[in-house]
Amino acid sequence: IPVDPFDLVIFGGTGDLARRKILPGLFRRFCAGQMPPQARIIGAARSELDKGGYREMIREAIAEFGGDLTGTEGRLDPFLDRLDYVAIDARGEGGWSELAEMMKGTERIEAYYFSVAPALFGDIAERLQKWGMADDRARIVVEKPFGRDLETARALNKTLATYFNEDQIYRIDHYLGKETVQNLMAVRFGNMLFEPLWNSQYVDHIQITVAETVGVGGRGEYYDKSGAMRDMVQNHLMQLLCLIAMEPPARFSPDAVRDEKLKVIRALEPVASHHIVRGQYQAEPMNEAENPGYRTAVENPRSRTESFISMRTEISNWRWAGTPFYLRTGKRMAARSSEITVVFKDTPHSIFEEDAGRHRNVLSIRLQPNEGITLGVTIKEPGPGGMRLIDVPLDMTFAEALDPEDIEQVDAYERLIMDVIRGNQTLFMRGDEVEAAWAWTDPIIEGWEARNDVPKPYDYGSNGPTDSEELMRREGRAWREVS
Ligand code: NAD
Repeated sequence: IPVDPFDLVIFGGTGDLARRKILPGLFRRFCAGQMPPQARIIGAARSELDKGGYREMIREAIAEFGGDLTGTEGRLDPFLDRLDYVAIDARGEGGWSELAEMMKGTERIEAYYFSVAPALFGDIAERLQKWGMADDRARIVVEKPFGRDLETARALNKTLATYFNEDQIYRIDHYLGKETVQNLMAVRFGNMLFEPLWNSQYVDHIQITVAETVGVGGRGEYYDKSGAMRDMVQNHLMQLLCLIAMEPPARFSPDAVRDEKLKVIRALEPVASHHIVRGQYQAEPMNEAENPGYRTAVENPRSRTESFISMRTEISNWRWAGTPFYLRTGKRMAARSSEITVVFKDTPHSIFEEDAGRHRNVLSIRLQPNEGITLGVTIKEPGPGGMRLIDVPLDMTFAEALDPEDIEQVDAYERLIMDVIRGNQTLFMRGDEVEAAWAWTDPIIEGWEARNDVPKPYDYGSNGPTDSEELMRREGRAWREVS
């Protein structure tokens, strides 16, 4: 279904994110017929380019980052025709009157994507207002990181609120744009099967893993000031935690969903120091030059920033009291994998012989790669061997259950941008949610800073420090294999 005509201005339209994700995503939506022919996309960045130069830059970006382009033949030029460019100085006056002129007098939806360093968010918001572009029709899209602690997040919310209402502000967390994340809500709230069991009585524990194989790459300087807690846990992992743990909202509407997520964050217990494991990756053996260890990569030999963290927390409410939630994320791990796992309790009594084996039901929601949902159920091992129990997956992997031809692969960014145009904030973080998340993470970070905690080294391509395995083992549990 095509969205209404819109003008999308991308501040930072020449940057890495715009070239890798935003514009290739918009091209796919264009090819899918979702973008009306009148739509305009205006790149606004520092480089002195003209319209033609920008179109060439994006042509190359789509060739490089656009993925499989079969079936899009003949579509690229009409798409590039939708592009315009203005060289702008977010901190000065250059380019603003030109942009204001371009945006004048249209009745379309106006969206401004802030794909620039967060330090520029306030400057851009201020200038949008000054040049008459911050009226009630405008929507702004804000990238992460949203602050680095509660104080800075509050200040940023306050600045944005000076120029825009909350219903105009779209704080992006691209994890929320993933197909499986929405499917998680469909599975939880569209079936009778799961919700009655979705509580501390039937669930032994829940684990959330976001494992990356990449290191800090070229982001070393930024990353070393941030670390896994700020870069991944405060936003992505907490968002996933909210969706898995929240009460059923009355409606699938933005504020109903976000109210329930907020309640989860506010009910999170503080994390005790013995429930946190922090780590730093080591160099790849025999290949140190190409894949150096964390401290070398960030050029800070005494760095105490974590590239890995695992922790155990609880949610203090009627549904979840006493159920552990284990979170884990890190770089240079064994595989790239994002997964939420719900491990159900043992049956109260086994009627089978002890050597028949015993399995727990495990529901795993996989975000990447191979998005899908799998439920492990116990059955009798087929054959003449008597009553032996095995665990088999009831598979809801989309690619197998549905005809792949029928599934349109939509990347998180393109889905979220289309939601901005539709004016649907359900999959975006509200200001109070972000602040509540920082209010939970701040004391944890302050705790390890006060203790002068030094992250434990962990092997390249491993699952973090051995202490992380111990965090689970001492409670008779184990992490799911990262694969
Ligand atoms: P980048 O450094 O590649 O690009 C920055 C862009 O901002 C460029 O287009 C540049 O011209 C523009 N810019 C810089 N100073 C400017 C000024 N004074 N006036 C006007 N334009 C100016 O950055 P990026 O990697 O594209 O990241 C952009 C934002 O997205 C950041 O907030 C980043 O944290 C966030 N983000 C990026 C990624 C990613 O994968 N790159 C992922 C998540 C979030």
